[in-house]
Amino acid sequence: MAFVPERPAGTGPVPGAPATSQVAVAVPLPLPTPLTYLVPTALLPRVRAGVRVRVPVGKRRLTGIVSGPVAGEAPGELRAIEAVLDDEPVLGADLLAVGRFLHEYYLVPPGEALQALLPRALPARGTESLRPTLKAAMRRELLSGEEQALVEELLARGKARRGELLAAATDPTALAARLERLESAGFLAARNDAAPGGGRYETAVELAAGDPTELLAAAGRSRPGRAVLELLARLARPATLSEVTGEVGCGPAVVRRLSALGLIRLFQQPVRRELSHHRLSGTAGAPVRLTGEQEQALAEVGEALSARRFETFLLAGVTGSGKSEVYLRAAEATLAMGRGAVILVPEIALVPALARAVRERFGDRLALLHSAMPPAERHQEWERIRSGEAPVVVGPRSAVFAPVPDLGLLVVDEEHDESYKQDQVPRYHARDTGLIRAREAGAVALLVSATPSLESRWNAARGRFRPLALSRRIGTARLPEATVVDLRQEPVPRHPGEVVFSRVLHEELRAALETGGQAILLRNRRGYAPLLLCRACGEEFRCEACGLPRTVHRRERRLRCHYCGAASREPESCPTCGERSLEAIGSGTERVEERLQELFPEIPIGVLDRDEVRRKGGLSSILAAFERGETRILIGTQMVAKGHHFPEVSLTAVLAADSYLSFPDFRAVEKTYAQLVQLAGRAGRGQRPGRFVVQTHHPDHYAIRAALANDDDGFVREELRFRRAFHYPPYTRMIQVLLRDRQRERGHRWMAELAARLEAVRAGEPELRLTGPAPAPFERLRGEWRFQLLLRGPSSARLRDWLRSALPVPWPRGLVVDVDPCHLL
Ligand SMILES: [Zn+2]
Ligand SMILES: [Zn+2]
Repeated sequence: MAFVPERPAGTGPVPGAPATSQVAVAVPLPLPTPLTYLVPTALLPRVRAGVRVRVPVGKRRLTGIVSGPVAGEAPGELRAIEAVLDDEPVLGADLLAVGRFLHEYYLVPPGEALQALLPRALPARGTESLRPTLKAAMRRELLSGEEQALVEELLARGKARRGELLAAATDPTALAARLERLESAGFLAARNDAAPGGGRYETAVELAAGDPTELLAAAGRSRPGRAVLELLARLARPATLSEVTGEVGCGPAVVRRLSALGLIRLFQQPVRRELSHHRLSGTAGAPVRLTGEQEQALAEVGEALSARRFETFLLAGVTGSGKSEVYLRAAEATLAMGRGAVILVPEIALVPALARAVRERFGDRLALLHSAMPPAERHQEWERIRSGEAPVVVGPRSAVFAPVPDLGLLVVDEEHDESYKQDQVPRYHARDTGLIRAREAGAVALLVSATPSLESRWNAARGRFRPLALSRRIGTARLPEATVVDLRQEPVPRHPGEVVFSRVLHEELRAALETGGQAILLRNRRGYAPLLLCRACGEEFRCEACGLPRTVHRRERRLRCHYCGAASREPESCPTCGERSLEAIGSGTERVEERLQELFPEIPIGVLDRDEVRRKGGLSSILAAFERGETRILIGTQMVAKGHHFPEVSLTAVLAADSYLSFPDFRAVEKTYAQLVQLAGRAGRGQRPGRFVVQTHHPDHYAIRAALANDDDGFVREELRFRRAFHYPPYTRMIQVLLRDRQRERGHRWMAELAARLEAVRAGEPELRLTGPAPAPFERLRGEWRFQLLLRGPSSARLRDWLRSALPVPWPRGLVVDVDPCHLL
């Protein structure tokens, strides 16, 4: 075998390895399995699991990732790997295992699974152009005949792309090896002309291979030239051009001359960003002394950490009980052992606040990783993590793939949150994927929530997770006093679209503001109103592509489809019947703001939703204004309920707690409950006692009652009863199969055929349940018809086998397979 995944990087081939061997290479194509390639002898020392390679696929050349060895003789003639792009694996053994998990568990093509683990901006060395150095021009006689010919050709061309040279070669393997040799001997200089992803790059330099004293001798008598070489030898690392010229006090021409002599190597690297703009001003809520419960939780986690034992903890604690203090200290302990920690948060929105707290503790050892970062910055953070320079990583979902070399701790904060499930390929759940990674790395997984998911509670109850509880708020802070407002008892508004502020809520708001407090209001809908209706003819302005009503955005005078983004002008009169009888029905954040401004004209109001975040160019300015007290009321969608710590907030309220309950989705109730508990938890975190008001048409619903009464057990009991009765998780495992097709008939027929095959395969297994095909709850989106099948059964593995045996290969376009779906829309 030419590689051993668990072998430390850079230690070369296994002694006695055969001269050629076969490896599996995952290429970024929707193929069901990796492809098998031969490893040419010259490349043998560099081919390991986790390195990127250039391989021929059909008439193309693609960058793939070596995923593992292939045993035995493959049938037929194999093609060979042409070039190795990385000197060290870009994916460690634990991440390769995660890639396999994504492939096997979520039925994701292996190439797409492994590609998802790498940042897109990671430059391939094959995109570099190669130029002959002055040394090549002057000292060609040192080279072999073949090398000389190559250098002659390059001298004639000036420069050439490595990828193009390899593509044109009759023996790309030999050429790749030759190019590498010439480069490391200083005859060729590589330069990354195309900065991937449009990021900013800067010039950096390093010493050419060879003895520094010989390099010094070759530098001649130029004093600045010698100083540059001495500096680089002393640093024993690459340095940026400006760093070198600044330190030595010379111009860039000196450095370029050394490069032309082949004594140093110039290359491009992503500009190092100062990441301070990720910080958010504000107060940290960290207490100095731990409570007894915190001590206890930390001790149990610490014991598993020092035993280097994979174990999953479920830390359930009421809001404000200091859960983050526990995991931050666990991270400190992890670092003290020389290992790394990854802290996942559900949304990018939550990263800045946490990043500040983490930075206070860990300083430059912190890396942030999220998809909203410019690619070059993301790449920089990725490299810092991989090199071990930044052993603490904070980020959303995708940070579960952070290349931390020796992962010791994985924290999943707000583990119940749906945003941990990615809703495009690969459709993975970051919590579940994280458990696989932690297992492979021998790490501790710490799942944290005030309202754990039913699945995690289930696992804890069955001994798979170890439960840890924080039952009390820290210090003098108490859980807020809750009031429910039965909207059925309120006077009917004059207009159907009017925002309802019940008398109780109005009074509570007035009282909070008069005593100098702040308030947070949740309205889980953006825009002005979810529907524009013609009172005369019933026109509803549905989106042509999606069949759903468009949302009124009055500030911009537009009707916007929230599913596909299509927009049109908001008309003054009905285009269908011509009457001026259009009415906005229902309310979104924009309308709530308008109404609130009427009620409290003097009070500055902030709005937090996706539209406002875009308009204001970021979330931090909205949150910072509220934190400084410049805005007194914050209205928002679910973003306002999550994780924030504002000590002056004395009132939180939900304007319509029923908005989720009516959703045709099995998680609607759990989501409603979690959101109510979270929002209540934003109030009364400082000195002020907190109040929490819930407006609802269903005051007797168990989710609402339990949230108001802090009756967590009561909620779980009722919800489990519902899940069991209707065969939903955690009582059963699910796979959703969805087909999108522009032609309704064709789509339906295909799904009916799949259902028939599934029925045939299932024969005799009554525990495997099949529902559908049926139109999806959103039957038509973005111009496509959507049909779904639901597979349910006691074990995920059996469901996957069942589905695999019935699905044709390749899958049709528009087929979506979602294992453990978070919702069924
Ligand atoms: Zn009309
Ligand atoms: Zn649409």
